Amino acid sequence: MTVRTRFAPSPTGYMHIGGMRTALFNWLFARHNGGKFILRIDDTDQQRNLDAALGPILDAFRWLGLDWDEGPEVGGDHGPYFQSQRGEFYKRAVTQLLESGAAYQDFETPDEIKVQREAAQAEKRTYLSSRVSLQLSPAERANKAAAGDAHVIRLLVDRQRKVSVEDHVRGHVEWDCGLMADPVICRSDGSPLYNFATVVDDIALQISHVIRAEEHLTNTAVQLLIYDALGAKTPEFAHIPFVAAPGTTKKLSKREIGKYRNNPQFKKLFDIADQILPAIGQSVSDAMNPVMVSFYEEVGFLPEAVLNALSRLGWSYDDKTENMPLDFVVQNFSLERVVKGPAGLDCDKLLAYQEHWMGQLPLEQKVEQCLPYLVKAKRISEPVDAAARAFVARLVTALGERLKLFGDIVQYSEYFVADDILEYDEKAFDKRLTQDPAACGLLRGFRDRLAGAEPFDAATLESLLNAYVTERGVGLGAVIHALRVAVTGKAAGPGMFDCLALVGRERCVSRIDRALQRVN
Ligand code: GLU
Repeated sequence: MTVRTRFAPSPTGYMHIGGMRTALFNWLFARHNGGKFILRIDDTDQQRNLDAALGPILDAFRWLGLDWDEGPEVGGDHGPYFQSQRGEFYKRAVTQLLESGAAYQDFETPDEIKVQREAAQAEKRTYLSSRVSLQLSPAERANKAAAGDAHVIRLLVDRQRKVSVEDHVRGHVEWDCGLMADPVICRSDGSPLYNFATVVDDIALQISHVIRAEEHLTNTAVQLLIYDALGAKTPEFAHIPFVAAPGTTKKLSKREIGKYRNNPQFKKLFDIADQILPAIGQSVSDAMNPVMVSFYEEVGFLPEAVLNALSRLGWSYDDKTENMPLDFVVQNFSLERVVKGPAGLDCDKLLAYQEHWMGQLPLEQKVEQCLPYLVKAKRISEPVDAAARAFVARLVTALGERLKLFGDIVQYSEYFVADDILEYDEKAFDKRLTQDPAACGLLRGFRDRLAGAEPFDAATLESLLNAYVTERGVGLGAVIHALRVAVTGKAAGPGMFDCLALVGRERCVSRIDRALQRVN
């Protein structure tokens, strides 16, 4: 059997982390089995601008490097890949079902059905379709429909039946059709409902494995009946657990975003984002937050780290292997190792993966990825010249492991790029300078040595300061903190001597003068 999987997003204008994980599992399963991964766009309810609604979804795939074999942009032999363009397929399938008697036009009004439902509820029995429309002959129904009488199309459920599935994750699941109302497959305006459209498409696309969110398990019963009614072979099914908010068993949801600031794990991501996003003209919002894939790209995660985290969301390999390149996951992926329980997003692990993958990245690539942040934050201008690039390379080197995300560069670059300190950490300034006259005195003395340092590089500056404190009979700590606050405005940062060298002689001296004046 040729494995063909699909991901079928509705174009919502953003890519949900949970949806991305579903897509990834489909992609992994296809790639593991040498099969095809198809992207189908479920845009039947689409009212808004399709490009704007679909763009971020395709961007998320591209950013993560997940390709699709058939679908938007790439085409394929089973197109079109947009449900809005597949009307003919649904029409043909409806005709087939009406002709075979597997479906019928139902002329009951919504009000009539409401009354029946309420009666069933009052009598505590399951509502079943009245099927009054079936008292008309097929020809009478067809004539009424042709004359424009409002109707929906319902599947005629065999109430004696049971349907079941051997789900790759949930195991054997069975439904009693005696408890099922005849499902609507087409609305009165002729548009197909999800259960129907998805089956018609999955048949046409020759999907072998439907891997999707567990919330669709209940839809599977009706879908199995539709496969049968259309005389088609059913695919394999795997309903994967939902992605939960960190540390909870509650589904990760865009609607909850307001509460996520108080989630201890998400708080870390929000704090990071608050440091980075404003500098590049963004902010955490309904349209940019950790529920969405674009958030991780925007703050400067590596796709490898996000893929690593997504792969582990509900797929267990072993407890020891944490950092997994995608090809390793492809080699080892199987549906049998997908867990049943909700899969909680783990921000600590995500940050650990990020640290790992960042550590693997060559300097030039780090620089390349930091540059757009510096441009957006107006710290360097475009086109980026060789001198700016060299400066950023020195900065990235000096930052070492402090640069956890590419976006971090905006936090650390301010004092290297600005002509003067933009903002002091006032608490640090008070402690290290205002409240420490001895440190100020030492700083004043060292200022003149700095002014004459030759060459003005980290090694020379380090030996100058060491000689200076030895002469004065004090430890490095007596002056180095004051020096850092004076030159960078901050209490902590990259290695002090790298900082001094990067800031440069003139700016170091004038910043020390300014800080000392500020104390007096
Ligand atoms: N468009 C549906 C959704 O986004 C697809 C569900 C399915 O995979 O069958 O939920």
